[in-house]
Amino acid sequence: MKIICVGRNYIEHAEELHHAVPAKPLFFFKPDTALTSGEDFYLPSFAERFEYECELVVKICKVGKCIDRAFAKNYYNEVAIGLDITARDIQQKEISQGLPWTLSKAFDYSAPVSEFIPLSSLGKEITNLDFALTKNGIRVQEANTGSMIFSVDEIIAYVSQFVTLKVGDLIFTGTPQGVGSININDHFAGYLEARPLLNLTIK
Ligand code: MG
Repeated sequence: MKIICVGRNYIEHAEELHHAVPAKPLFFFKPDTALTSGEDFYLPSFAERFEYECELVVKICKVGKCIDRAFAKNYYNEVAIGLDITARDIQQKEISQGLPWTLSKAFDYSAPVSEFIPLSSLGKEITNLDFALTKNGIRVQEANTGSMIFSVDEIIAYVSQFVTLKVGDLIFTGTPQGVGSININDHFAGYLEARPLLNLTIK
């Protein structure tokens, strides 16, 4: 199982981090050891600043390579809410030095993901889902998936040109604006179409 993460997929988020809006999907990987469904996240000590990035997560249900965008919707049927936890100070150094984002993005437990629910249970298209994140009860991120620069189907078509998608692979589809710091004792709740799915306490 692999975790594919799309970066800079919402214009306002790219702008808040002072990045150019990409012309093609930008993606990177987290290993399977990043995945956690646990309710607790233990803040590592190797960086100064960890940040949350709330994202819609899609689970691949069918093997595919070079998937045509028109058929991409056949390759997923479940969605969840996840946090792409990022060691932001390390990432900034990696970016300035032209290095890959491995240390800042791929560490253990950097991908808490809620339970998956059938997309069909939401009764809406994947291009029109509202999701949100609260930090200590205050809403810090909210978006509609219609604001993605590259839709889920476009991401699948693009990524599968280079990398075969397998059953159980996860795609983090990018975070909207409002990313911010994670500190001990913070509590995060993630919502998809107002359903509370993710519950994470920082220890
Ligand atoms: Mg992200």
